[in-house]
Order: sequence, then structure tokens, then C-alpha cells
Amino acid sequence: DPSLARLAGLVRDVPDYPEPGVLFRDITPVLADGEAFTVVSTELAALAGEADLVVGVEARGFLIGAAVALVAGTGIVPVRKAGKLPRVAASRTYDLEYGSATLEIPADTVPAGARVFLIDDVLATGGTAAAAAALLGDVGAQVTGFGTLVELTALGGRARLAGIPVHTLLRY
Ligand code: IMP
Repeated sequence: DPSLARLAGLVRDVPDYPEPGVLFRDITPVLADGEAFTVVSTELAALAGEADLVVGVEARGFLIGAAVALVAGTGIVPVRKAGKLPRVAASRTYDLEYGSATLEIPADTVPAGARVFLIDDVLATGGTAAAAAALLGDVGAQVTGFGTLVELTALGGRARLAGIPVHTLLRY
């Protein structure tokens, strides 16, 4: 697929970031390219199905999620790192390689029963996506799919999202 090949050509590999031995996939050049950003947005929106709402995970999930929501004709809700929201509906803490992280979902934004398409930029171990999906469960929403630009398949993130259809445009 020539348009996906164009996306792949724009992902920048950064060795030893954020720490030695890690190969970071930097997607910012994809977002900075108008044609590529349009492909990302339209391809993921086409996978959103009958979703009522898009939820994007801080921070690059906001950029892609908002574009997907606009194409799909839905609203967009941000799942944020702890301490940023004035009113919190639910909070989930999950393990990172070193330490932990907490994600929060704003109050009065996701109606119970809403069909939600969840968006982030990269699926790695799946811890972030699983925590975001759990938050949506906490507020009574139904996650109908999870979409990302990049999937790092060796880290097995899909397995953490059992029961949720996972859509990724580029797999490494
Ligand atoms: P996970 O929780 O291990 O799946 O990590 C996914 C989260 O970490 C996403 O929110 C990504 O933004 C970020 N992330 C992990 N690895 C990368 C990478 O190689 N490039 C860009 N973001 C990454």
C-alpha cells in the first residue's frame, strides 16, 4: 500500500531513547506531514465503525484522536495523566517498567453505554491502552475498538486488550 509506505518512511528510529537499548519510534514527522496526517486520520476513522465517541490518550493520542473524531463526525474526550483534570470520573494506576503511572478520565464527558473508539499513537506493552480501556469500563462505556499508528508487536500489547478489536496501521 503506497500510502502506508509513505507513513512508514516518515517514522524516525531513535536508538537508545529514552534509555540505552531502547529503539524509540518517533512519529512526530508523520504528524508534521500534511498528506501523511490525512492518511492516518482517514484510515483510522474508517476503522472506527459505529462509535459514538473517540477517546484519545495523552499526549500524542490527542493529536491523532481529534483528527479521527473530526473525520468520523464524533466528539473527542482526553484521557489524561494524573493531576490535570478539574473533575475526574475515574482513575487507574498501572505498572511501568520502573514505577507506575495514573490515567484519569474527565467527569460528565462519556455517557454510560457510549460506544468508544480508543486512540493512541503507539501500542507497546499495552499497559497504557489497558488502563484507558479499564477507565472506560469504569464509566460504563463500551470500547468498540482501539487504534494506533504504530504497534511494536514483540512487546505483546494486543494480548492485554483481550476482547477489544485492535487496529494498527504500521507494525514493527
Ligand atoms: P505501553 O503502555 O507500553 O503500550 O506504551 C504505550 C505508550 O507509551 C503510548 O502512550 C506511547 O505514546 C508511548 N510509547 C511507548 N513506546 C513508544 C515509542 O517507541 N514511540 C513513541 N511512543 C512510545
